[in-house]
Amino acid sequence: MNHNYLFLIFSLCFGMSSINLAQNFSDVKMIIHPVSKNVSYIEGRGGNIGVIHGEDGVLLIDDQYAPLTEKIIDAIGTLSSKPIKFIINTHMHPDHTGGNENFGRRGALIVGHENVRSQMRIAGYNQTPPFVTFSKDINFHINDENVHVFKVPNSHTNNDSFIKFSNANVIHTGDVFRSESYPYIDTNNGGSFIGTIKVYELLIELCDKNTKIIPGHGKQTNVETVKLAITMLNEIKSRIMSMIEEGKNLDEILSSDVTEDYDKRWDSGRRIGGPDGMLTAAYNELVK
Ligand SMILES: [Zn+2]
Repeated sequence: MNHNYLFLIFSLCFGMSSINLAQNFSDVKMIIHPVSKNVSYIEGRGGNIGVIHGEDGVLLIDDQYAPLTEKIIDAIGTLSSKPIKFIINTHMHPDHTGGNENFGRRGALIVGHENVRSQMRIAGYNQTPPFVTFSKDINFHINDENVHVFKVPNSHTNNDSFIKFSNANVIHTGDVFRSESYPYIDTNNGGSFIGTIKVYELLIELCDKNTKIIPGHGKQTNVETVKLAITMLNEIKSRIMSMIEEGKNLDEILSSDVTEDYDKRWDSGRRIGGPDGMLTAAYNELVK
């Protein structure tokens, strides 16, 4: 099969999935979940959008897909009439950065870690990358809040940041942490299973019992859910290590019941957030 033919097939598949996605967006509803006095998150389709609003304007964390921009703006309009000044990208994925172009055109400054920008280019994404990048961390002083954005070690991807609202005691974790499914490890873009466990440990250190966690996907939660998740990941890690020692290969691990007792709580039933991707990432790192 020559390359042109492959490209044609790829284009057809990709084009069709884009059309399907576009049709489905009309049904998407934006749900605003209040988190604290002037911090909320918006659930629509794609990653949870963090919002802080007040006299200085609006700052958003992530912006979902491009066809949802008007719905997002309408939802924010119910919270504030001030302009959307800043958008922070937690990481590169299109369900978090798809609105960058639309919001950028409306005058928002799009900010992200430098790896968001470089990895989007490496991966061939057509989303607009952040205009302003940072190498380690950056602070926004807005609406009487200190919004601290800092890169975490490779975990979901190689370009994940956490965002901490110091006064409100809120942390947006991007997709490193999902409150209702297994972590999705994007190994094509530098993600790491071991790194995910390390970043969960870091997240626990950053939290006290009152810290409100906005996950990349799933409902708002607190440090107890992270503790539950890290226990699960460490247990699965040790089970996989034992199976590797017994000489089991990846196929045998995937067809085993290694996650069975955790699936009810954590299996999303989908490719992303299901156990297979996580097990594959874990096996490939642990077998070395
Ligand atoms: Zn993601």
